[in-house]
Amino acid sequence: MLTVPSFFFGLLGLSVGSFGNVLIHRIHTGESIGGRSHCPHCGKLIRWFDLIPLVSFLFLRGKCRHCKKRISAQYPLVELGSAGLFLLALALTPDDPWIALLQAIALESLFLGAVYDALHEQLPDLFTWPIIVVGAILLVFRGDILSSIGGALTPLVWFGGQWLLSRGKLVGTGDIFLASALGWWLGFKGSLILLFMSYISGAVIILLLLATRVLSLRQKRIPFGPFLAIGGLAGLLGIGEQLIWFVR
Ligand SMILES: [Zn+2]
Repeated sequence: MLTVPSFFFGLLGLSVGSFGNVLIHRIHTGESIGGRSHCPHCGKLIRWFDLIPLVSFLFLRGKCRHCKKRISAQYPLVELGSAGLFLLALALTPDDPWIALLQAIALESLFLGAVYDALHEQLPDLFTWPIIVVGAILLVFRGDILSSIGGALTPLVWFGGQWLLSRGKLVGTGDIFLASALGWWLGFKGSLILLFMSYISGAVIILLLLATRVLSLRQKRIPFGPFLAIGGLAGLLGIGEQLIWFVR
């Protein structure tokens, strides 16, 4: 149903997603965040009317106006995904748009970090910090500090242990930091769902990718960030809660 808040959240999600694309590209290339956008192929500046989220991509049929090279599908997909996450956050607390906005910021950060990790096999801490801040602000409303601390410690001990045992080979510090931040935001129960669901989704998706030969067995490292993102989303929505039946 189209309401004023959902219209606003959808538009905001599209714009934030558009900025997220710029962020992902420029962190990778080391460009400054503030500069004007230009085509990665021909270097021509992109005018404002070609930077409207989704609309410009459709209008230009996915090609640069000048050199006609393809614009990556990442751009519209991240914009659409971001709009979807903002609407999801609103749907979770429709009567409290401020809480919804905070949750949307955490979800968006998680999403962008996962996309960055999938593309570049690296998880910059920049995408994790907003989740920690959102977790701290939400704590003011919820006041369950023990659950937040337990939620942060559980993945820290679990992945930190693996990091120590494998001398940093099995899991990256960026993954540990993100998982711990997610637990801090989602609370103790959420952190357990996060752990279970990130492994389950990881196993299912990797098997599917191997079966369809998108992925080969020779692949050395598979980014874990996207699976942490799925686990975190599951933790927020309580999907797979029956897996932690032993916690009451
Ligand atoms: Zn171009």
